Amino acid sequence: MPNPTPVSAAALLSRLKAEFGPDFFSQETSELLEYGKDWTKEIPPNPLVITFPRTTGEVSQLLQICSELKCAVVPSGGRTGLAGGAVAAHQEVVLSLERMNHLSAVDPLSRTLRAQAGAVTEAVHLHCQAQGLIWPVDFASKGSSTIGGNIATNAGGVNVIRYGLTRHWVLGLQVVLASGKILELNGALEKNNTGIDLRQLFIGSEGILGVITEATLKLAPVSRPSEVFLFAAESLESVLQVFEHCRRSHFTLNAFEFFTQRCLERVKKNLNLRSPFTEESNFYVLIDLEKPGDGAGATELEAWLEALLGLSGVKDGTMAQNSHEARNLWMLREGISESLSSTGTPHKNDVSLPISQLSGFCFELEAFFQAQYPDWEICLFGHIGDGNLHINVMKPETLSREDFKVRTALVDRDLFTLVRKHQGSISAEHGIGLLKKNFLSFSRSPLEIELFRSLKKALDPGNILNPGKIFDL
Ligand code: ZN
Repeated sequence: MPNPTPVSAAALLSRLKAEFGPDFFSQETSELLEYGKDWTKEIPPNPLVITFPRTTGEVSQLLQICSELKCAVVPSGGRTGLAGGAVAAHQEVVLSLERMNHLSAVDPLSRTLRAQAGAVTEAVHLHCQAQGLIWPVDFASKGSSTIGGNIATNAGGVNVIRYGLTRHWVLGLQVVLASGKILELNGALEKNNTGIDLRQLFIGSEGILGVITEATLKLAPVSRPSEVFLFAAESLESVLQVFEHCRRSHFTLNAFEFFTQRCLERVKKNLNLRSPFTEESNFYVLIDLEKPGDGAGATELEAWLEALLGLSGVKDGTMAQNSHEARNLWMLREGISESLSSTGTPHKNDVSLPISQLSGFCFELEAFFQAQYPDWEICLFGHIGDGNLHINVMKPETLSREDFKVRTALVDRDLFTLVRKHQGSISAEHGIGLLKKNFLSFSRSPLEIELFRSLKKALDPGNILNPGKIFDL
């Protein structure tokens, strides 16, 4: 890893002073700590300097300097990642894109929007709303996450079951390479069959191949109003039965989420919320589907709901009667991640399975934790309709943080072995970053990893861009 030597650090700072405005960079301790970390709590930040370019030209100039001086650079968006992809722990230069947050006017005819990388996801949503359009990438961290970070990590979220990952909603990209050269990829074209689609190389590459500075986003019409349901289910098996029931219907699913009683307990405690059910259940399923309209659609929905409540493993159910109730049901699901962190120390995991393997995987997962860690609290939730489970292991109070870290590394190995056995992925939407890189080979073949290295060397021969993330060279 090309950590700057004291000489290059000094040389770098004097070049920054000489070539940029006075507020271009900061070495204030509070900013070093803040911009050097993401939502991953495990790795202490230790960057050299935080830079705040305002234009693509400045990003290019900065990367040229860093290439010349062999300084490592960590591109930085909203830093809401959970895999350590935006952590600067080795005296890197943090390249914050937060000042580059301009949004162009929405083009309603082509349904596109040009956005700078630092634009916040929620600001993009609000900007499109006025035109009756949406950028359908949505998740709990929308108030902080940014367009560049979403694209660099190919972010997922709660609407993937309907709209797919971020990758599907990006038409064009502007990327600055390690050399400082600026690439414009695909413009605003929906169809472009002229060879290798380089844009896709950068989407999900976690900042190791180039710095995304702008994107042309693809927009969709605002979806029709939705109905939100919460069901109490006895077992994972019954959760999957409910899913099958949904898949066999004609309704358009916006989200199919699930969580366990243990998650609900912590959300209730942390956010002061109430469960809509009088009795506890092992599992809960949240369904958000497009309202079918009056007449035949409404009758069909009623019949569907009745049949669903008749399933043997479904113990109870409720349907939101208004938007306030719908929001409250959603809070029970969206508040989980934050509540686990506020009420304890979770070790987070984010795996995905082919839908056909979900049942077998979940069965073995339950058996594994029961046999090996019967006293541990496991908080399971996620976008089960996409085969995406967030498996959170809570630190027992009797265990020190250090011991917990050692133990969870062993848990991960067993867990990922199970994921591999069922042809799943060790990271569904959080990425690899620093936290999962030792396990990359559980989901990628040696040949794939060899190709990753070749691509990295071709695009970033000095290994200055986010070095040490995803894999080591
Ligand atoms: Zn998620």
